[in-house]
Amino acid sequence: STGAPVLRASGITKKFAGITALHDVSMQINEGERVGLIGPNGAGKTTFFNCLLGVIPTNGGTVEIAGTDATRLPLHKRAKLGLGRTFQRIELFPDCTVRDHLFIAERVRRGSGRLWKDVIGRGGPSKEELARCDEVLELLGLGGLAEEPIERLSLGQGRLVEVGRALMTEPKLLLLDEPSSGLDRPEVAALAKTLEDVQAEQGFSILLVEHDVELVSNFTTRSYVLDFGRLIAEGPTREILASDVVRAAYLGDF
Ligand code: ATP
Repeated sequence: STGAPVLRASGITKKFAGITALHDVSMQINEGERVGLIGPNGAGKTTFFNCLLGVIPTNGGTVEIAGTDATRLPLHKRAKLGLGRTFQRIELFPDCTVRDHLFIAERVRRGSGRLWKDVIGRGGPSKEELARCDEVLELLGLGGLAEEPIERLSLGQGRLVEVGRALMTEPKLLLLDEPSSGLDRPEVAALAKTLEDVQAEQGFSILLVEHDVELVSNFTTRSYVLDFGRLIAEGPTREILASDVVRAAYLGDF
């Protein structure tokens, strides 16, 4: 954790109608780090994730990505600065191939934010785009599945394709949204192993938003804990998970 900061969020505050969903939340992630974001249901994790990405506006605070102030930038410009994200589910076209999902993702994320102009208006994939897709699929151990329709994949394989889509634009920081959801223990372990290997080779940083405390404990070195929209703890993951304040917030949930 000695690298330069890839993310600096300071004093993020977010209000919905009468609710303060986030109150003065700050976070720093450095090059190559794997960091966790945990907290009970409704704590504000998804809201924080959306504020970092620029999916929703904040009521205060700043976001810096790889040294550039991104506070006023829209989603696609934050992506270009190096912010990648996964979704819990692949929600594109079930009969479209694995490779096509990757090339569409790259066009969307490298583009101007206009679907027609960036994806459809430019026709089929170029040789370079296909080569990049296959490179990412190899990296994830999915080389043999490039031509498969996405609906034929297991949930675990689909989750990896989702990671692949995010990796197409070479993110500096990858935000993972509940990657374990719906997977069994062996599938979670396999996903974590692949992510660790790919990360070690590519050197990006990871922010993991997770309910699965075991995964957070095994996978991250540092964590932040949200409760009722406030940071109640941050530090080395194992120390934090053992702390009384965090155990109290979870009411002995784990
Ligand atoms: P979970 O683990 O259940 O996904 P979370 O930690 O991600 O929870 P958020 O979904 O960020 O928590 O919700 C934080 C608070 O903000 C909750 O009180 C929630 O009801 C509220 N909230 C979130 N989105 C909205 C919205 N669009 N409009 C109004 N209130 C919202």
